Amino acid sequence: RNNAEKFEFQAEVSRLMDIIINSLYSNKDIFLRELISNASDALDKIRFLSLTDKEVLGEGDTSKLEIQIKLDKEKKMLSLRDRGIGMTKEDLIKNLGTIAKSGTSAFVEKMQSTGDLNLIGQFGVGFYSVYLVADYVEVISKHNDDKQYVWESKADGAFAISEDTWNEPLGRGTEIRLHLRDEAQEYLEESKLKELVKKYSEFINFPIYIWASKEVDVEVPADEDESSDEESSDRTSSEEGEDEADKSEDEDTEKKKTVKETTYEWERLNDVKAIWLRSPKDVTNEEYVKFYHSLTKDFSDEKPMAWSHFTAEGDVEFKAVLFVPPKAPHNLYQSYYNSNKSNLKLYVRRVFISDEFDELLPKFLSFLMGLVDSDTLPLNVSREMLQAHSSLKTIKKKLVRKALDMIRRIADEDPDEFSGKDEKDVEKSGDEDEKKGQYTKFWNEYGKSIKLGIIEDATNRNRLAKLLRFESTKSDGKLTSLDQYISRMKSGQKDIFYITGISKEQLEKSPFLERLKKKNYEVIFFTDPVDEYLMQYLMDYEGKQFQNVSKDGLKIGKDSKSRELKDSFKELTKWWKGTLKTEDVDEVKISNRLDNTPCVVVTSKFGWSANMERLMQAQTL
Ligand code: ADP
Ligand code: MG
Repeated sequence: RNNAEKFEFQAEVSRLMDIIINSLYSNKDIFLRELISNASDALDKIRFLSLTDKEVLGEGDTSKLEIQIKLDKEKKMLSLRDRGIGMTKEDLIKNLGTIAKSGTSAFVEKMQSTGDLNLIGQFGVGFYSVYLVADYVEVISKHNDDKQYVWESKADGAFAISEDTWNEPLGRGTEIRLHLRDEAQEYLEESKLKELVKKYSEFINFPIYIWASKEVDVEVPADEDESSDEESSDRTSSEEGEDEADKSEDEDTEKKKTVKETTYEWERLNDVKAIWLRSPKDVTNEEYVKFYHSLTKDFSDEKPMAWSHFTAEGDVEFKAVLFVPPKAPHNLYQSYYNSNKSNLKLYVRRVFISDEFDELLPKFLSFLMGLVDSDTLPLNVSREMLQAHSSLKTIKKKLVRKALDMIRRIADEDPDEFSGKDEKDVEKSGDEDEKKGQYTKFWNEYGKSIKLGIIEDATNRNRLAKLLRFESTKSDGKLTSLDQYISRMKSGQKDIFYITGISKEQLEKSPFLERLKKKNYEVIFFTDPVDEYLMQYLMDYEGKQFQNVSKDGLKIGKDSKSRELKDSFKELTKWWKGTLKTEDVDEVKISNRLDNTPCVVVTSKFGWSANMERLMQAQTL
């Protein structure tokens, strides 16, 4: 084309495309769900803009928020059209080729090691999956702020952009034309496309149509000169043969007959009743799992660990679905303090508002995925006004409660977990195998979040403490809970004992444990750096105080000899205190916490433990 401008793909993108083009990955179907997901995102965007400016939608067909699929067997072309926001010339250049997203190289690496393309959407490069099935792709796009442009590429390192002077005007939106490779001709079959849309795009909230063929009976006049009529020239010879017979029989009756004709019409492929609007009892587990996959673009085989679907009523009304993903994102804690990113999508009365709305969940729950659809929040206000809306606080509070209940349920339903009930009273559900060990799995992925929650969320501290797991002198290498600890406490034991340090192995040798072990007291090992901070916030649990056994104040039952000992060593302790400087020690005392070791240095009750000193030192280095 003579008005085309040429561009080179950014290097990483080019590499990505090469790999896709040459990939032996067998599941090529995924390109369709990526295109539909992009179309749906574009529709969400224009719908959002239309909340504050109705004009943006335009008139007539242009205003219809829908997705259309068309097949052209002759041209071996599959096209997908949306009436979404569209792309300006600049958008086309940036979004489809010159600006690499942060996920591009991460995905290239992943693909080189696993060959698995399934997660392409999660990395923000889903569009390029079109080259699994096409060797030439055209993207025609019209944005309200620009003219209509065509982007095209044969994935040979370059793409071209031209002002579109030859195609039908789109009004607004994007049409993607895939010129299918020879080995991908199956995507020209209507039945195949229908099956794929059902399979992958069931939860798209805009109607998806296919230009479907239909055999219909039509009545045509059967007059004598009909066989020579031009209009009937597409009929088969056998039909014409019948004609002859008809003619002789129906000579003086109505000269009409029925023939089959292929017509085309838009056939709706999805039902857009959002899953979260349905009653939870009508939604199957399988549907939730599929919804999770489509929501998160995580199309791996793994199921979410748990979900919660509920409606909140009262002053603030909303519906929500929350999921615990099977795995924590790799950078969950790395970016914890710099980012606040929530993974909940916010809808207001069915309209998608944002997936970067951080006011919905506290930071420590940012690993949750899901959505909230509010009826109370106003629709046609700016994002800033939404963020300051008073009902957000209530929504957040309720979401946290529900999230903690959901996490608690993972533990309650896990047969490996301590329920506090008698074995035989515990109700066994059918899918016990699936639930077995789930809480340990949860803990390994998200335990740190629970601890951060205890530190940050005073209101839910006790609820969160119930979810804590740790090892102890009696847990036998397994994880145990505070409730379990309490159930094993010795009669007369008032406090919950714990010790902090680098590792369990190191702590097991600690002289602080000598006497406690001998007397059969259980001591919790806290070995995560965050534990030291945690214990500054977690003062008590179920009416019991926590006692760091390396700190002053440890009481191990009653010792009848203590008074006597104190007296007989009075001179020694006095001498010692006099000899050591007051900056070094507060006090020298007779203790009953040791067994073999003659003496230990103990931290004062409100001072930093040795482990905390170590951590603080590590931080300032
Ligand atoms: P992602 O959807 O995760 O952003 P993609 O590779 O699928 O990544 O798409 C890249 C970008 O191209 C999108 O972010 C969007 O800006 C743009 N885009 C793709 N398809 C469309 C479309 N149908 N309408 C408007 N913009 C689109
Ligand atoms: Mg996409």
